[in-house]
Amino acid sequence: MELWDILDSERNKTGRTIVRGEKLKEGEYHLVVHIWILNDKNEYLVQKRAEHLKLLPGFWAATGGSAVAGEYDSKLAAIREAKEELGIDLDTNNMTRLMSIKRKDNHADVWLVRQNVDLQDINLQAEEVSEAKWVSKEDLERMISSGIFHDYGAEYFHNIFRVMRRCLSCEIVKGNTETTGGIILETKYFHAHQDFAYPIPGLVILASKRHIYSIDEMYEEEAAEYIEVLRKIRAAQRKVLGIDYVYYFYNEDTTHHFHTWMVPRYSWMKEFGRSVEAVRPVLLYSKENMKSEENISEVKKAAERLYRELNKK
Ligand SMILES: [Zn+2]
Repeated sequence: MELWDILDSERNKTGRTIVRGEKLKEGEYHLVVHIWILNDKNEYLVQKRAEHLKLLPGFWAATGGSAVAGEYDSKLAAIREAKEELGIDLDTNNMTRLMSIKRKDNHADVWLVRQNVDLQDINLQAEEVSEAKWVSKEDLERMISSGIFHDYGAEYFHNIFRVMRRCLSCEIVKGNTETTGGIILETKYFHAHQDFAYPIPGLVILASKRHIYSIDEMYEEEAAEYIEVLRKIRAAQRKVLGIDYVYYFYNEDTTHHFHTWMVPRYSWMKEFGRSVEAVRPVLLYSKENMKSEENISEVKKAAERLYRELNKK
């Protein structure tokens, strides 16, 4: 038998308790916790509630539950719930109380926990949870609008989204952030632009439109288009800019939105070393020393020529 402390509307203890499952009277509240775990990839760990639950069966939701009697510190309740439902130990040094809200029959403390959790380390409490997964901002927005995620309300979600970092690639793809060079090519699944932070003529960033972080997350159709687009851009670099060599790279550990750098190799780069070891010094050099008006205008012209070549009918 699980007991809950009965609180008043101001969140004070009344000294009375109620057995879990019994109905609180008008003006009576209990303390609940919501736990939002956010990883370095800017994803939230969400869970699907078991189908046989009375409350919100089969819905996706935050991890959480009620504090038990005597557990007035909601942080302790959050730690206990995460352990019970997901089988994980929350990182107590990285927990922030995001908001406290009063709802129909409960005072809810919403905890943000910045923590990386391996899905393999999760041990779901089968009676309450049927599934857990990481979701990006876009995933979560989709789940909310399609009605499969519990609707905590607009203001609540605003706070949940507010603490996620903005993804620069997503902003560029959506057109919310201007890239100085503008778009070089836009296809069904990809978006290519010149990055003016590194003013090297013909340097192209090719980003997926979906917020995926690894090439193995691409669907077949995306992967096919990726190669096609990469080849097209490469051919255009050669044809209209006379670029003989290109370095391609993408990395997964520091950026979490898939994009490929296409960095032309020019003869002046020799002084920075041979082969791949020169790439980083070259990029840094361009960032610091190649921002003259003359060079920027040259970079713009190169971007325009690529655009024209790639978008001609
Ligand atoms: Zn993104």
